[in-house]
Amino acid sequence: MRLRRARHIRGLIFKREMEKRDIIIVGSGPAGISVALSLKQSAAALAAEVLILEKEQHPRHKLCGGGVTEFAEQILDDLQVERRVAGFPIHRVRFHIGRKPLEFARENLMRIVLRSEFDADLVRQARVRGVEIRENEAVLELGRQDGRVQVKTSRDVYLARVVIGADGARSLVRRKMIRENATRVSRLLEVAVKVNAEETPEFRENMAVLDFRPLTQHLQGYLWDFPSFINNEAHLNIGVFDSRIREDRRADLRRLLTHKLEARGMSSTEVGLMGHPERWFVPNGIYSSPNVLLVGDAAGIEPWLGEGISMALGYGPVAADAVKRAFETNDFSFENYNQLIADNRLGKLLNRNRLIARYFYWRKLRPLVDGLASVLLAHFTEKKGIAARLIE
Ligand SMILES: Cc1cc2nc3c(=O)[nH]c(=O)nc-3n(C[C@H](O)[C@H](O)[C@H](O)COP(=O)(O)OP(=O)(O)OC[C@H]3O[C@@H](n4cnc5c(N)ncnc54)[C@H](O)[C@@H]3O)c2cc1C
Repeated sequence: MRLRRARHIRGLIFKREMEKRDIIIVGSGPAGISVALSLKQSAAALAAEVLILEKEQHPRHKLCGGGVTEFAEQILDDLQVERRVAGFPIHRVRFHIGRKPLEFARENLMRIVLRSEFDADLVRQARVRGVEIRENEAVLELGRQDGRVQVKTSRDVYLARVVIGADGARSLVRRKMIRENATRVSRLLEVAVKVNAEETPEFRENMAVLDFRPLTQHLQGYLWDFPSFINNEAHLNIGVFDSRIREDRRADLRRLLTHKLEARGMSSTEVGLMGHPERWFVPNGIYSSPNVLLVGDAAGIEPWLGEGISMALGYGPVAADAVKRAFETNDFSFENYNQLIADNRLGKLLNRNRLIARYFYWRKLRPLVDGLASVLLAHFTEKKGIAARLIE
């Protein structure tokens, strides 16, 4: 009986007139919004055809350290996004790499945002510019039909000329529409702990800390301490990033984070550790198929620092360019998407940081980390006008 009813409902869905859309973006995180805003700038007529489908409702929770760096700020400038979510300004970043801590200092080196607020504001600004975003509508299934993509959601069925998967590291669009077996997955764990701002150096000195010392315990990444305010209360966002870019023994992330909390006098049992993966980019990865493109975490970000907000924003102009060319030439194969990424500043950053990660996290090169610290020091001091020093 139940089965018959389910078939009947399915039948009704298929008989319904499908809404035709030129461009559907799945996901309204920074990557999805950046594609829509980029299209607004470069192809206004096409942008009017964009529909963003989002399974959650903003402001929604997103597990993230919230570190917004210079590259992200550049893209936000290019997209003429107003900074209405100030976040917590960071004037110094301390790296524990070799024997002595290495510190970089400059006003507003980066800022720490709450992702729920940051993303909700991007969505608001996109809506003001006329982008249509339907929240609480999850994409459940995708398939090909007559040279288009059929998108079934929790509410409707659409037929799209182009689908852009901006649906995060566990992307359904990738799983359904792009055949790729590679894993390329980094692991992250994070907690937010309430602290007294006056007694906490990260707040007093507007400082973010990245600690690479657990490289000796098989970690291919770092532990971080980021200061931020949640509901006007000072919190430390503490987490661990393991790029896993090299085949090697796995670090025990839970143990590393627990030790870290205990070393700061915090109880690991009172706070819930939450985990989420990231995917990293490789130049020969598969990021498109006919009528389909991937952006942001759904495609892949950089595996050295796991900096994904800026990468997600950076995919926007590249995907918009690919979509614009497709409509101009009536060629929706997207065969040149990897090349477009490679030619863009995004691709250069993704590749540079992937190479750094390959060597930085190579166990055989561990004895050289002190030397690497000096190289970093020289690089940042000369090129970026950032004061850098080794702390005695
Ligand atoms: C613990 C942790 C800490 C991090 N810290 C930092 C940091 O400090 N700085 C930094 O730069 N990066 C950080 N990152 C990475 C960063 O969070 C991501 O790279 C970034 O969010 C990617 O943006 P995105 O738009 O591609 O995906 P997301 O932000 O994940 O957005 C995807 C959107 O798609 C929606 N969606 C998913 N599936 C569906 C579906 N089926 N239908 C409809 N909608 C769907 C989701 O609800 C979501 O809104 C961190 C990541 C983790 C896990």
